[in-house]
Amino acid sequence: MDARTAIVTGAARGIGAAVARRLAADGFQVGVLDLDPAHCAEVVESIGAAGGRALALGADVSDEADVAAAVARCAAELGPPVVLVNNAGILRDDLLFRMTSDTWDAVINVHLRGAFLMTRACQAFMTQAKWGRVVSMSSISGLGNRGQANYSAAKAGIEGFTRTVAIELGPFGITANAIAPGYIDTEMVRQTAERIGKPLEEFIAAIAAEVPVRRMGQPEDIAAAVAFFVRDDASFVTGQTLYVSGGLAHA
Ligand code: NAP
Repeated sequence: MDARTAIVTGAARGIGAAVARRLAADGFQVGVLDLDPAHCAEVVESIGAAGGRALALGADVSDEADVAAAVARCAAELGPPVVLVNNAGILRDDLLFRMTSDTWDAVINVHLRGAFLMTRACQAFMTQAKWGRVVSMSSISGLGNRGQANYSAAKAGIEGFTRTVAIELGPFGITANAIAPGYIDTEMVRQTAERIGKPLEEFIAAIAAEVPVRRMGQPEDIAAAVAFFVRDDASFVTGQTLYVSGGLAHA
């Protein structure tokens, strides 16, 4: 069988980059999508160097025309995208009384509208193939977190969206699941440390002390969960949110 094709959004760095590399190692061709395709070069090259096949795709996931063009290009140059990992994300944290409608919209648009647009574009290829996998990044912050009204709402929305996609597309052999990471060592966590004015090392040590497994997560921990959801023999697991948080049960 020809290799299946996956698209990972926000894959130039952090969790998305680790997911792209893991899917390539597991035999998928990977569309490495991010805002600036030039930023995807390192991930694409590392996949190529390891014997895999990848293509850099530039798109703002919240822009309908960008999404249509990137998905069409992936289908034409790599293969029909039958695996989609909705991972692109931003933070615009602030307390509710200071939060502007612009920062609210920015976060909802990238996470929630982005997941909607990407999933709607890719499902056409999945239903045609009678096989597909959608995995979307939620967060423990979906349970509520101070300073993250926009982000919490977007992540809780992604979980509801995931359950509905699972219901609508299940008859076509397509599963949809969400992953709710705890604290993962990426640029996003560095931004959080900066926002609350804590030195990074201190912030990481404080998190690790609170996590039952006593460490911060690594992007590869999330990639391993994605690798499970996209397997053929995970076809009976759908509509779920998997917490990958080292046992941390709240944001
Ligand atoms: P990250 O290091 O900040 O990477 C996010 C990537 O998404 C960046 O490459 C960014 O590009 C890209 N991006 C942002 N807006 C985009 C858009 N409109 N269209 C396309 N790409 C866009 O983040 P991360 O920590 O790896 O997080 C990945 C996902 O996991 C996010 O959904 C996040 O909410 C979720 N998550 C992370 C954590 C954590 O602790 N790190 C915890 C829970 C959930 P630019 O660099 O050009 O901005």
